[in-house]
Amino acid sequence: MISERKVNSLDEENNAAVKPRVRFAPSPTGRLHLGSARTALFNWLFARGSAGTMVLRFEDTDRERSSEEFEKDIMDSLKWMGLDWDEGPDIGGDFGPYRQSERMPLYREYAEWLLEKGMAYRCFCSPDEIKKRKEETIRRGMSWRYDRKCLGLGESEVMKFEKEKKPFVLRFKVPEMVVRVEDLLRGAVEVDSSEIDDFVIMRSDGSAGFHLAVVVDDITMKITHVIRGDDHLTNAVRHVMLFDAFCEKPPVFVHHSLLMGPDGSKLSKRHGATAVSEFREQGYLPQALVNYLALLSWSPGDEREIFSLEELVREFRLDDLSASKAIFDFDKLNWLNRQHVKLLSGKELAEALVPFLISSGLEEIARLPEEKLVIAVESVRNNIEKLTDAIEPLRIYTVKPGDLSDKAAEELKKTGDVREALETCIEILGSASDADEKTACEIVERMRNVAAQKGWKAKKILWPFRLAVTGRTVGPDLKFLIMFWGPATCAARIKETLGFLEDSVS
Ligand code: GLU
Repeated sequence: MISERKVNSLDEENNAAVKPRVRFAPSPTGRLHLGSARTALFNWLFARGSAGTMVLRFEDTDRERSSEEFEKDIMDSLKWMGLDWDEGPDIGGDFGPYRQSERMPLYREYAEWLLEKGMAYRCFCSPDEIKKRKEETIRRGMSWRYDRKCLGLGESEVMKFEKEKKPFVLRFKVPEMVVRVEDLLRGAVEVDSSEIDDFVIMRSDGSAGFHLAVVVDDITMKITHVIRGDDHLTNAVRHVMLFDAFCEKPPVFVHHSLLMGPDGSKLSKRHGATAVSEFREQGYLPQALVNYLALLSWSPGDEREIFSLEELVREFRLDDLSASKAIFDFDKLNWLNRQHVKLLSGKELAEALVPFLISSGLEEIARLPEEKLVIAVESVRNNIEKLTDAIEPLRIYTVKPGDLSDKAAEELKKTGDVREALETCIEILGSASDADEKTACEIVERMRNVAAQKGWKAKKILWPFRLAVTGRTVGPDLKFLIMFWGPATCAARIKETLGFLEDSVS
């Protein structure tokens, strides 16, 4: 079976038009980390920009720490970012299954092939024995590598262990060679294999070791480009040896720089949010997050900074990735989020805000007819850096008529002649139930003009108007209040407030 596969891949080598096949291969042992999301994004941009195939593969060999819940978080977060895949555990594909835990027979087959060819061997050393020998070696001031004790086992010893059913692992017999990893970003990295342990390819419980599983998957899934973080660069050395052992050409490697916190260490909890879903909960837009992640190691070669996903697909080139450190800058992300908020239409912004309104107990606003919701949202748009910033300002639209904040009531009472100002407002507002933007602006303008005629400062009428309609001292531009409630309702609200003033005077 293995040699059959080799023939197939040789056929493909001769076919110059092989389409790229990339994979995003997270371990579902946590929520989707921003660093992994960046890896997914680079893979996806490359696949979509080159008519290639994007594969999602769960590397869930750590059964203790992997969970369905994390798989779901990873898939939901990718979808939220706008990233999709052509093959994966949820949708299948020609090269499945797409969970490593379901591919164990395949790994065993490959491992046994290596064993047969003398490129792997059984190791019966228990973890305790290894620990002791390791400690002893270190005590003698030497560095530890598996000492190949079991490589030299005689047949009778092997038989004895087998009879005793002594557990064993399979180790790859690292050949003597200079291993060359060709990386698109970093050039060729050469490592003398004498620095490398005979690593475990099958564990004693029959599950595959990480390196074997990755390489067998990349071979059998016909992956052409491996794009991942540079924490895997040292693993690539082992992978190249395995590809060699299986007589397969390694894929093109692209080890991009890791995502670092502002202090230069790997982005982690102590820097703040790290999971994509946390950024989502905090009110970042997916397009801003994606834009930011792309810009962290990639630039179009000019000054532009705002990109949509479609533009990124068009312009992204793997060769333009920078190998230098990617330092996460929350201020820059916030700035980009603000820019992407500005690009949204009122309707889009309203849609994005609805889940936040609901989770903040503002269903009343979330369920408004669309045109009302859009007016409300437009009125607070300039306050928004993150979507959550809109919640407090939008509460103004839940204030009931005459429901004055203490501060507003105090201010109203302090303002002399407030009655005349408010009665003037009622007159100007009139009895129309609706006002479009133009009419609302005209009403505000009339208030200013009438104030001027009466020899008042504009503030003398506009200030009590805001207090009386919204019950608050600060809030959106007045035109939005008129558009939201309509002139007649604004007038009714002012009457309520006048009633309150009378009550409090009597
Ligand atoms: N499962 C590995 C991780 O989550 C990725 C391995 C690979 O991309 O080769 O870091």
